[in-house]
Amino acid sequence: MTETRPSRLSAEVDFERDGKQTGFIRLFHSVHSSAYGFIPIPIVVIRNGEGPTALLTAGNHGDEYEGQIAIGNLVRSLEPAQIHGRVILLPMANFPAALAGRRTSPIDDLNLNRAFPGNPDGSVTQQIAYYISTALIPLADIVFDVHSGGSSLLYLPSVSMKASPDKAFEQRALAALQSLGAPLAYLPRGGQGTGADDTLGGEAVRQGIPALGSELGGAGTVTPAGLRIAERALRNLLVHMGILPETARIAADGPMRVTYVGGADYFVYASENGVWEPCVELGDMVRKGQLAARIHTPETPWAAPAEVHFARDGMVLVKRVPGRTLRGDCLFHLSTDALG
Ligand code: CA
Repeated sequence: MTETRPSRLSAEVDFERDGKQTGFIRLFHSVHSSAYGFIPIPIVVIRNGEGPTALLTAGNHGDEYEGQIAIGNLVRSLEPAQIHGRVILLPMANFPAALAGRRTSPIDDLNLNRAFPGNPDGSVTQQIAYYISTALIPLADIVFDVHSGGSSLLYLPSVSMKASPDKAFEQRALAALQSLGAPLAYLPRGGQGTGADDTLGGEAVRQGIPALGSELGGAGTVTPAGLRIAERALRNLLVHMGILPETARIAADGPMRVTYVGGADYFVYASENGVWEPCVELGDMVRKGQLAARIHTPETPWAAPAEVHFARDGMVLVKRVPGRTLRGDCLFHLSTDALG
């Protein structure tokens, strides 16, 4: 970041002090119902001497809950004497969105994970992004932003990482990813062609810090399996970083399957408005040209449903949840065991 303008937010915790400190980041927001008030974004810092720093975040999307629970469990169970270095825990990064159980903030309708690096004088979500970019990420040696599919998507529980053209940097991130003990990983390669990476992880990579992520389920709810993967991943990352001792590692159930998500041909979008009928299940291996979904128009039941097809071979990694769909909605995307 070349930006030097100060953030308007301030933390009640001192990141340089040893011990476990809990408190709030204060985002002053003077509104009709609360003149002079602040939005209290919970934050915890656990520090024991010099050493590496892990920044663990969740609630970036407020309708994704595994990370909010797992980071809370870690806040209550992790003690300074157990660690070497520092853990910064931010379980409800977009606090207004998390409190509302929504992907986007009810205050400004913004998606925090499309707001980085943020703006110190912008709207509430832009101010949060700027604070994370300028006050938290620079303290970190690794960032893990815990996600799931949210209200509209359901993923096979998986972990991921941000790509980088710097191969040595990417190897460091991959080693951290491999340490998490998750059953499935996917590496983004190509994306959706939306330009600059304005996510939290993208900002970390711009600052030279490896950024891990996850998609632990979704559908606006929590599963025991997704939560278990989150808990294990957070602990194992701290072991990998040398913050927790090797004895704290939680064994994986098996090897991690590493897959790739490439460009536009990995994605299937609704071609019409209507009620969509998925023709495959999560985890299915599909072939190019295979029927992915039918989109029905029950208001004209005599009209044939539209059909959409997969544009390539792959494994179904994610599906849309709501039954109604609009043209342009993502219905599925695939991952593959190898690129090509
Ligand atoms: Ca998400």
